[in-house]
Amino acid sequence: MVLHLNKQSSELFIRIPIPFTNKSKNHQKTTHHQIQISRRRKPPHISSVSHDHHHLSKPLQQSTTITTTTKNCIPKQEEEEMEEDIKSGLKFVRGKKLLSQLSTWGIGGPCNYFVQVSDQTQLLSAIRYCGEHSIRFLIIGKGSNCLFDDLGFDGCVILNRIEFIERIEPGMYRMGSGYPLNRLAVRCSSEGFTGLEFAAGVPGTVGGGAYMNAGANGQEISDAIYSVEIVRTDGRHETLNRNDLTFGYRTSSFQAMEDLAAIVAVTFQLKPSESARERQQAYLTRRKLSQPLVERSAGSVFQNPSGVGFSAGELIEKAGLKGFRVGGAMVSEIHANFLINCGGSTSRDMLQLINLVRDKINQKFGIQLKQEIRYVHPYNGFDPNRNDLPTL
Ligand SMILES: Cc1cc2nc3c(=O)[nH]c(=O)nc-3n(C[C@H](O)[C@H](O)[C@H](O)COP(=O)(O)OP(=O)(O)OC[C@H]3O[C@@H](n4cnc5c(N)ncnc54)[C@H](O)[C@@H]3O)c2cc1C
Repeated sequence: MVLHLNKQSSELFIRIPIPFTNKSKNHQKTTHHQIQISRRRKPPHISSVSHDHHHLSKPLQQSTTITTTTKNCIPKQEEEEMEEDIKSGLKFVRGKKLLSQLSTWGIGGPCNYFVQVSDQTQLLSAIRYCGEHSIRFLIIGKGSNCLFDDLGFDGCVILNRIEFIERIEPGMYRMGSGYPLNRLAVRCSSEGFTGLEFAAGVPGTVGGGAYMNAGANGQEISDAIYSVEIVRTDGRHETLNRNDLTFGYRTSSFQAMEDLAAIVAVTFQLKPSESARERQQAYLTRRKLSQPLVERSAGSVFQNPSGVGFSAGELIEKAGLKGFRVGGAMVSEIHANFLINCGGSTSRDMLQLINLVRDKINQKFGIQLKQEIRYVHPYNGFDPNRNDLPTL
């Protein structure tokens, strides 16, 4: 342990070895973290969030940066506590970033590490840094299909804002995976190409859309994909052709890839169509009339069951659940498959409402609804092969 006293700021720095456990390989390595001791603020320890999830009683990894000042020094601004990757200069926010700010549902506690990336180099640095420090990580786009837990996430959330667009030839676009789907739909249809009109009004990103195989109005993003560039957890960059990938209803090969770190870019090949722009506008108008777009939601919560002749929304409406509420979570009056945060919903409220709707539909119609949204477990993140919700 090394002690340093910074005379100018009267801050005490302690350099201590911190053992990190590599959860996947089950071995330990030792690294150093600089801790600034403070009397003024509580440590950004995410387990301090008050919560009554009995199924989640494991203590979270102690946040290692505690910043405050002593009495005589100039008071510091309420800056976010940052940790810098010396090799790349990338800065990580420690213990402060609320996942509620990163999801369209507006639900979720703090994450231990947060970083925003705007190009591939930054993304690779973030992935490398997490690997070197055995920090589990997940990448998100607009968080428009995610349910974060009130306990937060004991790892790093990488916010993807890789937003480049490259026109390779007429109708062929190579897009950064952080490019907004809505903007893509408007742009391609305005330029006279068909295939992505459905995405107008979908608040996600190209990467999230490819991962989820987003779709509507009989179109799916996979129909327009030519190739996808990915990064594996070991840092390898690969280009996968459409034929290397399988897609289904809201499923993609990416969901089953255990070593997928991130989708970096997607190349689309679209067909010319004079009516594309008109169709895109009509889809958007219909969406505005039939969906609660001003409310906080994650779109359709359940997949439409196959072969029953009714959509999930129609079944929920038939069961009389429109307007049904648990705490701050409510079944939308406008579209029954949209569960909205109508003010202060916790993840527990939302999970209870999801389970309740599912149970009611099962009892009434004998149909088991499957959720479309992805739940982010505070300690495990996304399970690549399953998408189970916790039992409350
Ligand atoms: C009002 C509203 C309307 C919607 N309408 C539709 C609709 O019509 N059709 C539809 O299919 N969906 C719809 N959705 C759901 C959602 O917008 C889509 O699923 C969208 O594709 C998610 O994109 P995202 O960037 O927000 O992904 P996120 O929610 O950020 O992430 C979803 C999943 O994708 C993964 N992911 C995200 N980016 C990457 C990346 N770069 N690399 C690897 N993995 C990644 C995440 O880890 C996570 O598992 C709607 C949502 C809302 C709120």
